[in-house]
Amino acid sequence: MGLSTHSGDGGARRRLLAPPSLLDGFVGAVSLLGAAGFLVAMVGTAWPPATHVVVWPVVFLAVAALVGEVKPLPITRDDEPVETMSTSGPFVLALVAVGGVGIAVLIQALASLTDDLLHRRSVTKSAFNTAQYTLSVLAARMVFSWLTGIPFFAGPLTVELQHLGPLLAAGVAMVLVNRLLVAVVVAIVTSQSVWTTVRDDARFVTATHVVLLCIGAVAAIVAGDGVAVLFLLIPPVIAVYLTAAAAVRHAHQASHDPLTGLGNRDRLSRGLDSLHAVAQRTHAGGPGLVLIDLDHFKDINDTLGHPVGDLLLQQVAERLSTALDDEDLVHRLGGDEFAVIVDGDLVETQLVAHALLASLEAPMRIGELELLVRASAGVACAPHHGADTETLMKNADIALYQAKLERDRISTYSALFDVNTVERLQLLADLRAALDTGQLGVAFQPQVDLATRQTVGVEALIRWEHPTRGPVAPDDFIPLAENSGLIAELTAYVLDTALRALAGWREEGHDLRMAVNLSARHLSDLALPRQVHDALTRHHIPPGALVLEVTETGILADPARVDVVIAALRRLGVAIAVDDYGTGHASLSYLKRLEVDELKVDRSFVSDMGRDHHDFIIVRSTIALARDLGLRVIAEGIEDEGTALTLRGLGCGVGQGYHLGRPTTPELIQVRMDDERRVTTTPGSP
Ligand code: C2E
Ligand code: MG
Ligand code: MG
Repeated sequence: MGLSTHSGDGGARRRLLAPPSLLDGFVGAVSLLGAAGFLVAMVGTAWPPATHVVVWPVVFLAVAALVGEVKPLPITRDDEPVETMSTSGPFVLALVAVGGVGIAVLIQALASLTDDLLHRRSVTKSAFNTAQYTLSVLAARMVFSWLTGIPFFAGPLTVELQHLGPLLAAGVAMVLVNRLLVAVVVAIVTSQSVWTTVRDDARFVTATHVVLLCIGAVAAIVAGDGVAVLFLLIPPVIAVYLTAAAAVRHAHQASHDPLTGLGNRDRLSRGLDSLHAVAQRTHAGGPGLVLIDLDHFKDINDTLGHPVGDLLLQQVAERLSTALDDEDLVHRLGGDEFAVIVDGDLVETQLVAHALLASLEAPMRIGELELLVRASAGVACAPHHGADTETLMKNADIALYQAKLERDRISTYSALFDVNTVERLQLLADLRAALDTGQLGVAFQPQVDLATRQTVGVEALIRWEHPTRGPVAPDDFIPLAENSGLIAELTAYVLDTALRALAGWREEGHDLRMAVNLSARHLSDLALPRQVHDALTRHHIPPGALVLEVTETGILADPARVDVVIAALRRLGVAIAVDDYGTGHASLSYLKRLEVDELKVDRSFVSDMGRDHHDFIIVRSTIALARDLGLRVIAEGIEDEGTALTLRGLGCGVGQGYHLGRPTTPELIQVRMDDERRVTTTPGSP
């Protein structure tokens, strides 16, 4: 009744770290002892065995033992279908009593050798298997003889009811010797204690052993009644098989993703757990974890439909499994996220990450379609990046996020990555939801002619009212949106909302400019001019009424493309303003070449110019330079009347700031302009 040593033992037992001498010594000793035992059994037995016991029951038991050996029972361990268990045991046990020790040892050895031959196991392995089975059978017979008083080498026996107790005891001895010998090998290989191995084992196989032992005992007793009665044992054995198969199926379902057949998150953490345990005992590096996320999978799903998305995920799963040559290590965590366990150190983990991404490079064929899939990977490896599974997963996630952020494709976790990353990840997820659920809004801040104090324009500023955090500042989420690709959607939303509001005011007869902020990324998007043109047409707004604000960093990010995009926008008739001027590195000559229309002096110089002489000088010379270059100047961040007056004195045409008007709703802008019109059209007003 052996659980053979060849059973799959899960990831944790994959590496052979044991001192070879110890393992070889033990295997050699068992093999020798087994061979000696085999000889003794053969020599001690009187051949051919007496014929007063019918031959056919012995033949039946022998065949059953053989079938049981080559057709082992699948068993699950920790919900993992990892092992098989031979069912030769009950029939060999019956043979121990019915046929005598010689027949039992011979049949068991034949069964074991046949199985080893079928599986092409090495001679050493096969020798060990046969030896440990032989020793188990000898132990069983010893117990049986001792308890019944029947001589050890006695021939065939008609088993009576009074032999039942000794037979069961013999069965227990057989299982114990077998398990113990296997456990020692496993313990040496995995550097675990023998006791831990035996205990782990007992948890999963005891129940099955009890059932098989009982079948063995019944087989021994009914063998005396002829072979026909023995056939009645076939259904219960088949039932054991079916139950075991169902349990394995169930275990597989619970730990695997139905779409791709890969392991799921549960299986991943169990796999990592066991590798962690081994690594800790052996002080080896690892395990490593590679998280992979497909870029733009949502777009594929949305535009081509979920069936295509599913097929694509299946192909990705296949590519990743093939790249590793071991699908057991690849997992799907849900959506387009995959995880791969690496039983190695950091360098190996990084190599695997490269190999995995490389495997996705060739286009994927789905029916008529050829799709190019890009992916990013985050790498983390124990012990540097986390000594337990949870930390490792978290840090691989952070690395993945960083990979997406930096468009680096592969990023290895570093403690330097923003400690707030997890929070930012959450915020990004929330922002995605916010776009769909109307948590976003746009506020408008007046831009005022400093001479007449008339509102000549407004700047559209995005607002986010988070359901639990309350208002979130644009500076906190715009960079997230920029790095995640969400910015395109966000800008489209702001542009549309702003132009709709402007159309409303224009209907009321208020003619003013609308400023909309563009993120740096947009300036290299060749589709932007078209998008702006469409939005203007949709809301019937003349292009001259729109000002697009860009920052110096945006302009310098990808100068060649930015030139093209800005030129196209200006051809549309849209004005370009340089926002936060003075905080970046753009030279005025560069701005001149770009032919921007407007310069917004950054509020960091303006707010304090009344107190800080340096700021004052910077603002004064910027206004002078801009005017000489023929640019419109707007001063941002005017917080008091003194500053407004000073700026006007310096020749700055337009101002913006809390003193002149805070960002507010379109309705209040409407009221403000109605009021201004009333004042200017009232007879007697200046
Ligand atoms: P910005 O374009 O320079 O916008 C002006 C910012 O200064 C706004 O902050 C505004 O509320 C604030 N502000 C206005 N007057 C004063 C003042 O007198 N004193 C002080 N201390 N602050 C004043 P907000 O709304 O928090 O926006 C911050 C930045 O976020 C904006 O700077 C802009 O770069 C970005 N942003 C806002 N909305 C959008 C958008 O729709 N798209 C993009 N890409 N960026 C946006
Ligand atoms: Mg701005
Ligand atoms: Mg600004």
